Amino acid sequence: MTQHFIVIGNPIAHSKSPAIHEQFARQVGADISYQRQYCPADDASFIAVVEAFFCGGGVGANVTVPFKQTAYDCCAARGGLSDHAKTAGAVNTLLINKALVAKGASIAEAIYGDNTDGQGLVNHIASLGWPLADARVALIGAGGAARGVILPLVEAGIDTLTIANRTVSKATDLVKELSDTSPVIAAKKIESCATSELSGAFDIVINATSIGLSGDTLPLDNNLNCQYAYDMMYGRALPFLQHFAARDAQVSEGYGMLIGQAALSFERWTGHTIDVAKATESLSQKS
Ligand code: NDP
Repeated sequence: MTQHFIVIGNPIAHSKSPAIHEQFARQVGADISYQRQYCPADDASFIAVVEAFFCGGGVGANVTVPFKQTAYDCCAARGGLSDHAKTAGAVNTLLINKALVAKGASIAEAIYGDNTDGQGLVNHIASLGWPLADARVALIGAGGAARGVILPLVEAGIDTLTIANRTVSKATDLVKELSDTSPVIAAKKIESCATSELSGAFDIVINATSIGLSGDTLPLDNNLNCQYAYDMMYGRALPFLQHFAARDAQVSEGYGMLIGQAALSFERWTGHTIDVAKATESLSQKS
């Protein structure tokens, strides 16, 4: 029987998720349908779409801009949240908490939220052969994407983390908030600063800002150096990566993170393990 999945967003027409999940399904021989689901940008519409989907037999949903926080609130009040979703303060993967249904909850009461974005990034970095254990990492940005990768980076065994942001107070508040809620993060040495003040040698520098959308460039210090530079953005020329490539760093854009987070969602929903490298190769041959 066909298993049904959707990705909910606004806008949504550009989403690559259907092609990615269809590739996964081909790889493991699963019978799925994965559709883009447009939703008006208000909480009530989101809840209506999600309830209609799951009550109609849907198996899993991805959530993208601007609904990740709404999805978090929805799941917090219903079927619960994974640790990664709790730390991220955002949900990108919805499924039904079957244990709650077995105890008598309705489907609508059992909608559960996870967040696979951060682990998708960590898995992609590992697949590139960039060592995370004991790494000195700088993370630029303090929005939703940055927030979601902090716990997975710490769990991957990094040595130090410096969070830089245009608005320094947001980086400082983020470090404090996450340290207060997660003992694993509290045990890690995490500093914060303004992006323009980020300087010195790091193993890995990650751009988790949305600046790539604007065409602007980050104010990067001349004395900021790294072996590896990663931009979560993808599919366009990225001045951040050009900056570090010119300084002999190895660089990567974030398409592998997108496939990595999708693979983790697919695995949660279907129980199938995805060969991400093989899927990435097949997808790149098609694009
Ligand atoms: P948010 O809007 O939550 O955060 C934006 C961040 O970018 C803030 O830190 C903000 O700084 C900073 N920023 C925005 N414009 C500028 C600028 N002109 N100069 C300096 N800093 C700027 O966005 P998200 O965290 O949700 O997303 C960030 C990026 O990550 C997006 O490009 C998104 O596409 C990408 N992403 C990629 C994924 C993947 O799978 N590859 C998954 C998730 C996200 P300030 O606080 O000062 O405003």
